[in-house]
Amino acid sequence: MNSGGDSVSFYIKTNRSFTLFRRYAWLLAILIGIGGQFVPALGLLVPFIMAALIGMSLFKGKYWCGNYCPHGSFFDNLLQPLSRYGKIPAILRSRPLIAAVLLFFIYNMTARFFAVYGAMGTAEFYERLGFIFANTYLMVLLVGGLLAVVINPRTWCQFCPMGTMQTAFYRLGKALDLTGRFDEKVVVEHPELCHSCAKCARVCPIQLTPYLGFSENYRFEDERCIRCNTCVKNCPAGILHLAGDRLAEALHKEVSLEGFDRARYYKARINSIGELHDDIREYTFELLEPSHMPYEPGQFVLVEIEKSRQMYRAYTISGSGSDNSEIRVTVKRLPDGYGTNLLFNNFREGDLLTLKGPLGRELRVNLESEELLFIANGIGITPFVSVVQSVFDRQDYEFVGKADLLYGARYEEDLVYDDYLESTAAENSNFGYHKILSKPRTAQYRKGYVTDILQEMDDPLPGAKVYICGTPKMAADAQKILLAKGALPENIYYENFGV
Ligand SMILES: Cc1cc2nc3c(=O)[nH]c(=O)nc-3n(C[C@H](O)[C@H](O)[C@H](O)COP(=O)(O)OP(=O)(O)OC[C@H]3O[C@@H](n4cnc5c(N)ncnc54)[C@H](O)[C@@H]3O)c2cc1C
Ligand code: SF4
Ligand code: SF4
Repeated sequence: MNSGGDSVSFYIKTNRSFTLFRRYAWLLAILIGIGGQFVPALGLLVPFIMAALIGMSLFKGKYWCGNYCPHGSFFDNLLQPLSRYGKIPAILRSRPLIAAVLLFFIYNMTARFFAVYGAMGTAEFYERLGFIFANTYLMVLLVGGLLAVVINPRTWCQFCPMGTMQTAFYRLGKALDLTGRFDEKVVVEHPELCHSCAKCARVCPIQLTPYLGFSENYRFEDERCIRCNTCVKNCPAGILHLAGDRLAEALHKEVSLEGFDRARYYKARINSIGELHDDIREYTFELLEPSHMPYEPGQFVLVEIEKSRQMYRAYTISGSGSDNSEIRVTVKRLPDGYGTNLLFNNFREGDLLTLKGPLGRELRVNLESEELLFIANGIGITPFVSVVQSVFDRQDYEFVGKADLLYGARYEEDLVYDDYLESTAAENSNFGYHKILSKPRTAQYRKGYVTDILQEMDDPLPGAKVYICGTPKMAADAQKILLAKGALPENIYYENFGV
């Protein structure tokens, strides 16, 4: 099986500068590396920097590299946009190379130090010493910078001698029991909440794979982790944290697995692939082993899209056979999406694959509520298809409350399941279906966003339950309007698709 649509990159360029220092620390690298060529005394800052990073590593591993390193800031901020952003070759991450670079660094610095040693105590000694350090800083700017552009921004960091020394001192710190409460690691709230989407690996500057490496106590223990927080900020499930032991324990105690506790792995076959639109397909999976997946409308499954990486994608169950021996998902292809291009290009009817489910708690609807409000835009409509079915298409139960669905899309053809929703609204006077297009091609549709409709609606009843699925911006705007209209925050539920 080839990579995501052949042309789609696995690794994703993202912002990594979450503090002002990280954004601008590269100025220090330029000052010392280039300024030091003219004012060698600037190079004398380097021993202090080295002392700081080694001191810090005793307590916090490679925290310096991800948060304070001026070269790291240079690679991430200035060179990342220019970088080809490829995979870092295994040889550059290998132990022999790391050891060889460290030995060369020690030999080189020692030899150069002895060359100026004779002038010890004089102004010339300090000038020449400063020059040695400034040159070393410049060399990293040049070599590291070249590798950053040609391969990946943090290529140098794989074998940087300062990084290797930090790892050695970190081990010493652990042996001396210094790390304790200072040592923050990437922690997952619970592995069962993970979607195995690999986003944490795709954004990691060091190209580590946190989702495949959580220890028994849910920590990512890889010593190469530079604690940069990038995976934490990008995890679509919001389940990663950079935490010391105390916070990690508290997270584990508080976490709820409700909605995730009945998930199992299923062997499945793709029974049919339906085209709903150029870029939207409906996949029906026959469940082979186990043969039935009991689920609640609004829940999702994970679909394995790449075996070698154990990588899955989350898709809401948009329907199923009456005995749950088949389930259906609706997928929108993203032009630069890795997984959707794999699904669209490589998966065929009859193919076998693994699913995991059912999962999710946010969009499981409380049918006892007098008023239900569903708000969707784009592909966020998928959970509400099975939800509407479960509310209005049941023989054993009649929903007596009132339900409204607000559905926003871009063009007419993007309104998937429109016929079904229209007919359900025609048959049920207590179901209001309101659609709106941001770029209608005809005058038949209202132009605008779901939030425009929401704004005009009556205030929700005090106990009304609101379920939102769509883009983060729409969800944020909708929540603002709902709160202003008196909806209770605990009655608003939102599933973030992360796209
Ligand atoms: C609970 C849940 C339910 C979901 N249900 C559905 C559903 O029913 N139907 C559905 O279609 N989707 C659903 N999703 C979204 C789905 O899981 C995938 O995220 C989606 O299909 C995109 O996957 P992808 O691998 O193609 O995109 P990815 O490659 O993961 O891309 C995700 C985003 O990152 C951007 N990106 C990707 N590569 C790069 C790059 N190199 N540089 C910069 N930006 C980049 C993309 O533009 C996109 O916006 C759901 C998600 C969740 C969490
Ligand atoms: S980014 Fe995806 S794979 Fe990584 S921890 Fe979050 S949900 Fe799991
Ligand atoms: S695992 Fe996370 S915190 Fe560690 S280096 Fe990778 S992105 Fe940064």
